[in-house]
Amino acid sequence: MKVDHQLIIVGGGPAGLTAGLYAARAMLDVTLLEKGAPGGQVLNTDWVDNYPGFPDGLSGFDLADKMTAQTKRFDLEIKQAPVTGMDLQEDVKTLHLEEGGTLTCRAVILATGARPNHIDIPGETEFAARGVSYCATCDAPFYRGRIVAVIGGGNTAIQEASHLTKFADKVYVIHRRDELRATKILQEKAFANDKIEFVWDTVPTAITGDKSGVTGIELKNVKTDKTSSLDVEGVFVLIGLRPNNEMLPMEQLKTKDGFIVTDQEMHTSIPGVFAAGDLISKNFRQIANAVGEATTACLSAEHYLAHLPDE
Ligand code: NAP
Repeated sequence: MKVDHQLIIVGGGPAGLTAGLYAARAMLDVTLLEKGAPGGQVLNTDWVDNYPGFPDGLSGFDLADKMTAQTKRFDLEIKQAPVTGMDLQEDVKTLHLEEGGTLTCRAVILATGARPNHIDIPGETEFAARGVSYCATCDAPFYRGRIVAVIGGGNTAIQEASHLTKFADKVYVIHRRDELRATKILQEKAFANDKIEFVWDTVPTAITGDKSGVTGIELKNVKTDKTSSLDVEGVFVLIGLRPNNEMLPMEQLKTKDGFIVTDQEMHTSIPGVFAAGDLISKNFRQIANAVGEATTACLSAEHYLAHLPDE
């Protein structure tokens, strides 16, 4: 059966663009489908200091732009075409497009990423990238000698709070209960860290600031209803991630908490379907590991395509 492409990549963040680069350079018949502009979450990242090869760092926008330009050198076709559904179980994979119609292919790389949960309080959007951050690994070095707040009590919040103390003078951890969700070992490390102060049973109600960025956070104790505020220059909202999986046939794929389970070669549970980047089930979500996984995903897809029986 004739198909539209050998390989379709869904998602144009660092993982999708890297898979696209490798696939186009390997002269596969490939197209990349992206719902907006290529770049993904990186486009919302003010500054990237930890992606190798850029000794002075660069803006997230510039990194996305450079990654896209590199794919263009090898004529990768990038289509702005949101995907609304997929049938992946057959040998021929079918992708349904929002604009109407379908595209078929032999192999798919899923790289639709994830988005951080937002706390949805006044000031959060206004001060995004001006003191409000969703990634301490990315932004902690900007808070050297400052006072910051972390919202959340899970593994990410507690691990990142400890990481932040390498830079910040003080880290408040604001948690809505009086018990952390994070594993005991991370808890013990955080409790022993005298730069961390826990604010229990408390939710943030507003992030305040001025032209310079964030200057404080308003709080409410959920048991007493007492309100208070803290002077902080950074607020790290670390209350979990949501995978961008709305267009995926979740019933066909092996998943964990909504993220796609892969093996080390980035195979999903369906032959011919690979996944990479923030969409997959893993502990650490960085540009550099997304790029590595996407490289593996593309090489695995290439191997899969090369070993398909002749029509
Ligand atoms: P998570 O485990 O879902 O924890 C989210 C935290 O945010 C919880 O403490 C939750 O409070 C709080 N929260 C959620 N919504 C909130 C809201 N609207 N307002 C205030 N607080 C809110 O998310 P995660 O920490 O990002 O971890 C995600 C997954 O990655 C987990 O499976 C985790 O184990 C894994 N992970 C593992 C490691 C590691 O092993 N080193 C590191 C990072 C992440 P409640 O506790 O009250 O629900």
